[in-house]
Amino acid sequence: MGIQPEDDKLHDECGVFGVWAPKRDVARMTYFALRALQHRGQESAGIAVGDGHTVLVRKDLGLVAQVFTDSDLTAMPGKVAIGHCRYGTAGAKGWESAQPHLSTINDVIIALAHNGTLVNFDSLRRELIEMGIPFRSNTDSEVAAKLIGYFTQRGHRLRSGIAHTMHMLEGGYAMVLARENALYAFRDPHGIRPLVLGKLDEGEWVVASETCAFDIVGATYARDVMPGEIIRVSDDGIVSEQGAPAASLHDCIFEHVYFSRPDSVKGGSSFYLMRHRMGRELARETPVDADLVISVPDSGTPAAEGYAAELGIPYGTGLIKNRYVARTFIQPTQELRSLGVRLKLNALPDAVAGKRLVMVDDSIVRGTTSKQIVQMLKNAGATEVHVRSASPMVKWPCFYGIDTANQDQLIAANMTLEEIRDFIGADSLGFLSTEGLLACVPEGGYCTACFTGEYPVEIPRVFYEEKFLPGYEPNNLEPSSPGSQMSLEELLEQD
Ligand code: SF4
Repeated sequence: MGIQPEDDKLHDECGVFGVWAPKRDVARMTYFALRALQHRGQESAGIAVGDGHTVLVRKDLGLVAQVFTDSDLTAMPGKVAIGHCRYGTAGAKGWESAQPHLSTINDVIIALAHNGTLVNFDSLRRELIEMGIPFRSNTDSEVAAKLIGYFTQRGHRLRSGIAHTMHMLEGGYAMVLARENALYAFRDPHGIRPLVLGKLDEGEWVVASETCAFDIVGATYARDVMPGEIIRVSDDGIVSEQGAPAASLHDCIFEHVYFSRPDSVKGGSSFYLMRHRMGRELARETPVDADLVISVPDSGTPAAEGYAAELGIPYGTGLIKNRYVARTFIQPTQELRSLGVRLKLNALPDAVAGKRLVMVDDSIVRGTTSKQIVQMLKNAGATEVHVRSASPMVKWPCFYGIDTANQDQLIAANMTLEEIRDFIGADSLGFLSTEGLLACVPEGGYCTACFTGEYPVEIPRVFYEEKFLPGYEPNNLEPSSPGSQMSLEELLEQD
């Protein structure tokens, strides 16, 4: 394996976007927004449009630009649209798993798009199946869509159907939903997955996983969607209500390290600037004497620049990235696969030969890619390669929407610092501390579970054997919410 550097990274699982703008070409706006969010998921893409009478969906496997033609978008006029790009996890890669999901509730059609993971979706799915509700896929997103349908059908309005569903769901989620004449957006009570609200002209609103999607459609950032909040936009204007009580904020810290695009903004600061600060902090914590600082492009670049600036060492290009080896359905042959990281990166001997290098990467997950890059730089003539990670050691799996390996594949859960250094063949190795990382991001509450094992939402016991190594006991900071412990019928009886 290891055909691309990204295979040695944590993966965000999705990007979402929604727009309410009855006088505009909402499908085309969503298309361009999804192109801006493409880094969040490259395996499928979809757009749903509500035209005042019904909801239409087009989705398929592939990159956004592969899924939609100009005439597809022209054939989707509407007042409201949502979009989704997806990074598929094992067991959920087929067309049925592509989003948005279309569901019918009595005579109302809804389309739902979801970023995140619901830790209790399996038990909810079983309960719904026992009640005779059919499923097309094995995804948690479909469980959420079916639950919303179920509660709405039981006589509630759609907004209260969403609120009831939020009481049942556990995990990290940011969802957008379109019906024929309204846009909805809602976020988990801990605010683990990101969701931001932006404004176009009077009465026109957008929501997205990141602000880079606003820039491309000409919207301005208004505020974050708050933990547990439901936003509804329609001809009646924008309405906000608390769907589920907000819990303590646990914004995913890894969005700041790696997932979000550097030009996206959070708390008044770009992710570029935060990563530059992380590089400076990393240099203060783990300095080294060297001739040149290089980055593992592109995601390590801001931190590498910060590292170099802090120590007064020149920053330069030592690795060239082939930008056109995007995720593709054409699998390389075994022979090409053995080229490993060279399919995506190549060393620049002119820049690195005879030099003592600091190689800054945003994170080290399995360590296999770092090992190949260090070897490549040494083959290109580098005399020393000092590796620095602009995030702490990733020791714990994520359950909230990020595709992490099981703990046995996380190198930092299995080896000491010195053993990792030896494995990747570096002359020295350093990681940013968790405290140092938190000092570089805007003030707020953060999930740091993949570094610390402190999980904001309880991890069900059934995952322990599969995901954790013996001896690792996660610390569940908050027990499940009372609603998620109840059956659907019990929850309804409470009304
Ligand atoms: S465990 Fe890590 S990747 Fe997952 S939500 Fe928390 S900080 Fe983000």
